[in-house]
Amino acid sequence: MAKERTLAIIKPDAVGRGLTGEILKRIHEAGFQVIATKSMRLSKAEAEGFYAVHRQRPFFADLTDFMSSGKVVVLALEAENAIAKWRDTMGATDPAQAAPGTIRKEFGVNIQNNCTHGSDAPDTAAFELSFFFPSHDLL
Ligand code: ATP
Ligand code: MG
Repeated sequence: MAKERTLAIIKPDAVGRGLTGEILKRIHEAGFQVIATKSMRLSKAEAEGFYAVHRQRPFFADLTDFMSSGKVVVLALEAENAIAKWRDTMGATDPAQAAPGTIRKEFGVNIQNNCTHGSDAPDTAAFELSFFFPSHDLL
């Protein structure tokens, strides 16, 4: 199978709790190649743009407040079947429902403060990678 890319974010709750190194270790152990990375703080407007697909959801205001509340680490990851593989590594959205051994199960606080983001399909991965990285960072 061809290599695929996905966009991962270590969210403010995890960065704030000092979990960046632990999550990067799991990314490497799972066999992903890190193509690009950056540490940044999203503005509220940037968080709204990134999560625009959720703008009608009741949790949109809280989610975008949370995502702009502190620094995030953004990563372009590559592997075979990277999109599904990273979502499997993260675990289910709600840490209480996540499988044992996943990042969200072990470190997630609640359904919002769930440590990490991952693209959910090839079209959203393409949008999200280009949202954060210029094409020359993804060569
Ligand atoms: P992500 O897109 O961040 O990888 P996901 O695809 O597992 O997570 P989505 O349904 O896309 O889940 O929701 C995006 C994010 O919104 C979740 O990761 C979580 O932080 C927040 N969220 C989702 N559902 C709820 C909810 N019911 N209440 C509060 N926050 C929620
Ligand atoms: Mg999602």
